[in-house]
Amino acid sequence: LRSKLPNVGTTIFTKMSALAEEHQALNLAQGFPEFDCAPALQRLADKYVKSGKNQYAPMPGALPLREAIARKTFESSARDYHPVTEITITSGATEALFVAISTVVHPGDEVIVFEPAYDSYVPAIELSGGIPVFVTLDPQYESIDWQAVRARVTEKTRAIVINTPHNPTGKVWTAADLQQLAALAEESDLIVISDEVYEYIVFDGREHISAASLPSLAGRTFVCGSFGKTFHTTGWKLGFCLAPAHLTAEFRKIHQFLVFSVVTPFQFAVAEYLSEPEHYLSLSAFYERKRDLFNDAIQDIGFTLKPSEGSFFQNVSYAHLSDEKDTTLAERLTREIGVASIPVSAFYAGETDYKTLRFCFAKHDNTLEKAGKLLKQAR
Ligand code: PMP
Ligand code: GLN
Repeated sequence: LRSKLPNVGTTIFTKMSALAEEHQALNLAQGFPEFDCAPALQRLADKYVKSGKNQYAPMPGALPLREAIARKTFESSARDYHPVTEITITSGATEALFVAISTVVHPGDEVIVFEPAYDSYVPAIELSGGIPVFVTLDPQYESIDWQAVRARVTEKTRAIVINTPHNPTGKVWTAADLQQLAALAEESDLIVISDEVYEYIVFDGREHISAASLPSLAGRTFVCGSFGKTFHTTGWKLGFCLAPAHLTAEFRKIHQFLVFSVVTPFQFAVAEYLSEPEHYLSLSAFYERKRDLFNDAIQDIGFTLKPSEGSFFQNVSYAHLSDEKDTTLAERLTREIGVASIPVSAFYAGETDYKTLRFCFAKHDNTLEKAGKLLKQAR
C-alpha cells in the first residue's frame, strides 16, 4: 500500500503515555486531567443515558447544546452564532479541526501553521493535498512576528491555523495579535481555523480573545472548541465548531459523512451543565493554582521556566543544564526518574534543538509535588 501519510508515525502522546505506563512513571506527558469530572456532570450523563437519549443525535448536534453554546459565546465574544445554521457539535475538537481543514483546503493550497504546532493540523492539511507553510514562534514564546507571517503569504495561501491559548507553549494571543490577524486575513482573503480548546484556561488576569469576537474575523473563521478540557471529560470526545452559515453548510457536508452525529446523552448532559457559568469560569483559577504549585515544586532544579499564560502546560528549557536532545531526555527521565514529559521538538516538522520539555500540570497536587521531588534527583 502507498501510504497517504508517509511521514507520520505513532503520535508522541501515545508513545510517551505507553512509556510512562511501562515504567510506572508519573504521566505529565499526554495532556489530560488526572482527576474526574464533577459528580453533578456525571449525574447528568447518567440521567440522559437512563432516559432514552441513546439514539442518533441530529446531524449538527442536539439543539439544546447548540443553544447553550450560542449563549455562552454571546456572553464571552458578543457574537451571535445561530444555533441552527452556525454551530455544529463534533467528535472533539479533533474532528472539528479535521473537517474545517478538509472544507477549505484544495490540492496545492498553502496553509500557514505556527510552529510549534499541535500535531493534528499538518496531517489534515496534507490529506487534502494542501501544503503547510510554517512560521516559527520565537523560542522564548514572547511575541508573534507578524512581519514573518506576512512574508509567508503568497497567492496560493488559502488559510491560516491559529491556536490560543497555545499548545504546547501556553502562549495566549493578545488583542493586538488578533487585530494583526484580522487585517492580514482580510487583505489576503484567508480563511482562519482557530483552535480555542483552552478558552477557559488563562492565567494572571489575562483574557482569552476568541476570533469570534472580532467581527471581520468571525465572518471568515471556523472556531474549534472542546468540552474535554473545560469539564475534565477528554474521553467524551465532545467538541464543536462555530462558523458563519455559508462556511457551516460546507463543513456539515463533510461532517455528515465522517461521523454523521456524535454521542447523544453526553450532549444533553453538557447542555444542562453549561447553564451554570461558574462551571467553566472557575477553571482558570483552578489551573493557575496548579501551575504555581508545579512551578514551586520544580524551582530548585535549575530549569528555565518559559511563560505559561494559559492551557495546562508548563514548558521548561534545560539548555544550560544538559546537551541531551529533548527526545532522549524525556525518555530517560521517564525510565530512570519516573516522570514523563513531552519533548517539544515533536511539535515541529523539521529537526530542532530548543532543549525544551512540556509538562502537563492537570494532575493532583500530590502528583505535581512528587514529580518535583523526583525531578530533583535527576540533577
Ligand atoms: N487542539 C489542541 C491544541 C489540543 O491540545 C487538543 C487536545 N488534546 C485538541 C485540539 C483535541 O481536542 P479533543 O480531545 O476535543 O479532540
Ligand atoms: N492534546 C493532548 C496533548 O497535547 C493530547 C491528545 C492526544 O493524545 N491526541 O497532550
